[in-house]
Amino acid sequence: MEGLGVLDLRMMNNALLSKWLWKWVSNPSSLWARCLRERYGGGRVATILPTISSKMTFIAKGWFGFGREFKRGLWWKLGRGDRIRFWKDRWCGDTPLWSKYPLLFHLAEEKEALAGEVWQGGERNGEWRVNFRRISNELQVQECADLLWVLEGRMISDETADEVTWEAVPSLGYKVEGGYAWWSRDKPVDQEMAACTPRIWKIKMPSKIKIFLWLALQNRLLTKMYRAKWRPTDPMNCELCQAKPETTEHLLLRCPWATRLWRELGRATGARLDFQALAELRVGISTSTGSTALALPAQLQLLLLPAGLWALWRTRNWILFRGHRLYFENIWDTTLHLLQEWGKHLVGLRNVYLSGGGGEIRYER
Ligand SMILES: [Zn+2]
Repeated sequence: MEGLGVLDLRMMNNALLSKWLWKWVSNPSSLWARCLRERYGGGRVATILPTISSKMTFIAKGWFGFGREFKRGLWWKLGRGDRIRFWKDRWCGDTPLWSKYPLLFHLAEEKEALAGEVWQGGERNGEWRVNFRRISNELQVQECADLLWVLEGRMISDETADEVTWEAVPSLGYKVEGGYAWWSRDKPVDQEMAACTPRIWKIKMPSKIKIFLWLALQNRLLTKMYRAKWRPTDPMNCELCQAKPETTEHLLLRCPWATRLWRELGRATGARLDFQALAELRVGISTSTGSTALALPAQLQLLLLPAGLWALWRTRNWILFRGHRLYFENIWDTTLHLLQEWGKHLVGLRNVYLSGGGGEIRYER
């Protein structure tokens, strides 16, 4: 109970401070916003808040320190598009476009572009024109199709200003109670992702694996069930066991082939890797559950899940697209091979290997 009291105080504090951030975002030309901008900087758009620095006073750190979280509660209604960032603000669907289409965002040339800059042509006959470095694989094409679908019917209107609302503020204006309720709300997937995303980008592994992991954790891999949205007639069974519909959760966690991999990898390392649901896996990634008892270097421990997940996904793709046959040894060997390669090149170990007798994963510095 005591802990709860502390938590409440923090929420209350956030609720009080949010009021000042809200003033900044909702009225960027107010005296308050201009004052702060002059003193601390901040971008051309209201949602670009100053970065926290050691030079800031304690109070300013309080204002801006939770800005990221605060911004998750903002919604924009598109008008002229001169205050909304196309990728980074939430104006089109539940999440900002960058988190919905990470592959495209990765390739986008103007990551900070305003919506009004992406719109080309006049109010009536213009269109969305996003510039990408290059679109090369099927996943990206699919995302592109999806993005165009989402943008369909949305257009710039020269006469109207962009409008911002904050979930915590009813039409009457900010009340601390509303802010408090917002800060104490249950966190949806989006928030869980917020906890493990920085972790994913910090783990030393190739960026394509990071993107894969990021998509997988959000349940957005192009599995057969995901694809069924566009092509409902395609077969939907899991490529490995052929018994269940192929969802991300099934393929990577619950399929008998996956559970066997996690069991054996757990045995070889002493880590707890038997997650049943994506939500658990997200927590596992953000806290590296089970890692305390391991005799492996921390950076290698972090690679266990990504290596196994990628091995399952790659095996599945090889069967599906290249007609390979399924052997458990392939999944297992791929996982070990990845750990070996990453261990050597990314963690800087001399070797990572499976010891003969007990089948345990060992390493040499
Ligand atoms: Zn299966």
